[in-house]
Amino acid sequence: MKITRRRFLSMSGAIGSGIALSSLGLDLTALKAHAAELSKMDRIRTARQTTTICCYCSVGCGMICSTDKLTGKIINIEGDPDHPINEGSLCAKGAGIFGLTETNQHRLRKVLYRAPKSDKWEEKDWSWTLQRIARLVKDTRDADFQINNDKGQLVNRVESIGHYGSSNIGNEECWTLSVACRAMGLVYIDHQARV
Ligand code: SF4
Repeated sequence: MKITRRRFLSMSGAIGSGIALSSLGLDLTALKAHAAELSKMDRIRTARQTTTICCYCSVGCGMICSTDKLTGKIINIEGDPDHPINEGSLCAKGAGIFGLTETNQHRLRKVLYRAPKSDKWEEKDWSWTLQRIARLVKDTRDADFQINNDKGQLVNRVESIGHYGSSNIGNEECWTLSVACRAMGLVYIDHQARV
């Protein structure tokens, strides 16, 4: 398509929509992302702002949660610059907390299961999933609960199951999980925040 100067200028006027330039075969991904970011900044400026504390660890960083006044939905979460502990900064875990809100369309919402030796993922409901996990844990624990340690002593310990904590669980959830794991005899328990 031949582009005259007049046509280019008329198209530039419509750049906000991104439709005209994309019709010329130009990649507007970065431009659209920038426009979306500007639009989000405008929404944040007019949003209701509430201060809160990150739930993930005992550092207790301050956050500002912006909520759309019309929809009541969270549109942004960021570090609180006025908070004496973090002064606006957040670690990667805290900085990713907005990704857990319903705004994130890529958030995992359903269970996908791949059977042994299968190359296909199947969608499963939570009832099936929890029963399957409980069954495997129980069977493994029953089979391996008593072992001989390095001194040849018989001990109650499960070394065939390990538990690694999710990055998305809070202090109280970590504590509950670690207690539950120890009660089952697990010794390989870890978490990125080292409960
Ligand atoms: S997880 Fe990170 S952002 Fe949250 S309180 Fe701890 S250090 Fe702060």
